[in-house]
Amino acid sequence: MTGSEVPKCVHCGCNVVDFLEFSHLHTTHMERGGDHNRNLALRIVEGRVDLSDIEIACRICNAKLYLEKKFGPTGHTITWNTPLWTLI
Ligand SMILES: [Zn+2]
Repeated sequence: MTGSEVPKCVHCGCNVVDFLEFSHLHTTHMERGGDHNRNLALRIVEGRVDLSDIEIACRICNAKLYLEKKFGPTGHTITWNTPLWTLI
């Protein structure tokens, strides 16, 4: 991701910033939104985070990833439908 791209979930494409959070790829440690995202963003800018362990995911996909890490495949399929979101 470069500075000019709109952030979005790497799994479903959700681009509602309030729904996005950082996901750790190689750990089961789940840290979510709010202060964690701000603190992690600062650590990324300062070069103190291994970016190979970080991706941007929406909270829905991140929850699925958490369950799959803990229990294995869940059978869930997540689809982002932008037109539905714009109607709300
Ligand atoms: Zn997603």
